[in-house]
Amino acid sequence: LEKVFMEAPAGVVVFSGPDFVFDLVNPTYQSFFPDRQLAGKPLLEALPELQGHPLLDGFRRTYTTGETYYGKEVYTQLARTPGEPLDESYWNFIGQARYDGQHQINGLLMFGFEVTEQVLLRKKVEESEQRLNLAVENVESGVYDTDLKTGKSIRSLRHAHIFGYGDNQGDWSLEQMQQHILPEDLNSTQKAYFKGLETGDINLKFRIRRLDGKTRWINILGKVNYNAQNEPVRIVGTTTDITDKVTLQRQKDEFISTVSHELKTPVTSIKAYGQLLKQSLQKAGDTRNNGFLTRMEVQIDRLVTLIRNLLEITRIEGGKLKLYSEQLRLDTFVLEIISELQLVTPGHQLIIKENEVPFILADPTRLSQVITNLITNAVKYSPKANVVEISVKKIDSMMVCSVRDFGIGIDQKEQLQIFERFHQAHKNPDAGLSLGLGLYIAKEIVEEAGGKIWLESEMGRGSTFYFSLPLNVIPEYNILDPIT
Ligand code: ADP
Repeated sequence: LEKVFMEAPAGVVVFSGPDFVFDLVNPTYQSFFPDRQLAGKPLLEALPELQGHPLLDGFRRTYTTGETYYGKEVYTQLARTPGEPLDESYWNFIGQARYDGQHQINGLLMFGFEVTEQVLLRKKVEESEQRLNLAVENVESGVYDTDLKTGKSIRSLRHAHIFGYGDNQGDWSLEQMQQHILPEDLNSTQKAYFKGLETGDINLKFRIRRLDGKTRWINILGKVNYNAQNEPVRIVGTTTDITDKVTLQRQKDEFISTVSHELKTPVTSIKAYGQLLKQSLQKAGDTRNNGFLTRMEVQIDRLVTLIRNLLEITRIEGGKLKLYSEQLRLDTFVLEIISELQLVTPGHQLIIKENEVPFILADPTRLSQVITNLITNAVKYSPKANVVEISVKKIDSMMVCSVRDFGIGIDQKEQLQIFERFHQAHKNPDAGLSLGLGLYIAKEIVEEAGGKIWLESEMGRGSTFYFSLPLNVIPEYNILDPIT
């Protein structure tokens, strides 16, 4: 038995008597304290730093009751060699009563394993987990992870707070979230949600009624994961309360709207008086001043366009861009637009390459606005070229119109942002009156009508802008199944 004790890979100690005198110390145990004298000494004399340590209470209980003592990851501060500073360590202990011939307890058998490394490693992991949690909780956004098979979500505390729940967040599911969405936002949110499931990117903006009754704007972003059958199975992402941002945006839009409305009336009357003045100068034969007035008129017209565009974006932002549709004789419609534009762009020849779509169901004013915008841009951004090519074709059930120029082109990076409002890809030579709104408006119109707009371009070689529109139907969006 002694041999087993002596060779055991664990620390084994036999204590005798109520003061726990080290009777037998195996080499493994001794190796924990290389230079300390243990054998023959009472525990507290050999290792006085254990004074008051809970381990001793455990040992004493075993000594009086005979119950085995189990100490798990017991924290101790010990000097490994005499006089050294105390060393922090963790131990697992088993203490068993030792009996004499009369079945009286006369000592203890102790097995000890040092587990310092494992404990420290685990603490490190826990710490970094805590740090991560802290980071997750302290950012403005909440985080969620939704299993689409069950509809159930795991969410961060912040996420729960955004919906008005306290720290006791409870379970969460798509269904529960849906109950918070304002009824008037439900349909559009579902539409955007199903679109996101197809594209892989969720981006939803809607209003919720929080648990405390407050209405807030929410933005949910997420990435969709798919299984081998390409079915969406999981969404992970963030939820942010964007109420302040939306309010600010609305104030800005209101400001733009007010200013442009206020500008409209004086500019219109300046234009009218200019025309009157021009007529009387013409009568008087004053060609010099008449020339000045013509230039003034050009500038006024640009100002009018600018104001119109500003009003347009406030309409778009307010969701008031309403299209109506009528049966159009498209080929002649395109011809008319182009011959009108040709009059004001003498430096470029507008060439119709193809004009193959006889009819379309569309909003004539808006359609003309989009085509005009693309052609004016093509002319504006190809000062050294002299042609612009236009083509209208039928591809499947869509009409695709393209406008090609041989101008300065747009680099790859800019191409991604060019349809954003107020975005300009170039330092505009006559930037005075262009605001980077034309393409944004065109995109809104085209998309509202169920089409797409895109471009191909190479720096220095020119650009081709395309847009498509459904030929027959202005689609009413399908009423999609409710989110389950
Ligand atoms: P604006 O022309 O008033 O600045 P747009 O929204 O029509 O606004 O266009 C945005 C930007 O896209 C322009 O500022 C210009 O940099 C770029 N762009 C548009 N059309 C073309 C084109 N055909 N060729 C090169 N760049 C273009």
